[in-house]
Amino acid sequence: MRCPFCNFDDTKVIDSRLVADGGQVRRRRECLSCSERFTTYESAELLMPKIIKTDGSREPFDEIKLRSGVLKALEKRPVSVENIEAEISGIKRRLQATGEREIDSRDVGEQVMEALKALDHVAYVRFASVYRSFQDLEEFRAEIDRLSAEPGSELGE
Ligand SMILES: [Zn+2]
Repeated sequence: MRCPFCNFDDTKVIDSRLVADGGQVRRRRECLSCSERFTTYESAELLMPKIIKTDGSREPFDEIKLRSGVLKALEKRPVSVENIEAEISGIKRRLQATGEREIDSRDVGEQVMEALKALDHVAYVRFASVYRSFQDLEEFRAEIDRLSAEPGSELGE
């Protein structure tokens, strides 16, 4: 792999470890020429099911879109990148594990909600309020109350 600092075409791996719940390998590399160090992440590229949108059209699974939705909900929340990546890897694994060639976009949304619920309740409510479009305010309110009552919740502050 080429050094991003001096463009030399060989680097050595000085450290390698599993991250994101085993879904990625993080490698520390050192340039053999200028000795600068940098990090690369490696993950398997597996076939993801196509996404069936609400209008019935199909589109390829878009990890960047998924990640930006998750990050949007988690804006300014105290959640580590490591934990976020682990949940995103988990979503992808579960989508692949269905063995389906096409998956309803709503099912992906449900997966995202489950992931956010595990990461951060505020982010979960943010996302769910937009995504699931609660039947009415009463239901939304009830969900917030339910989450506030759970230990470790910050909603009650
Ligand atoms: Zn270099």
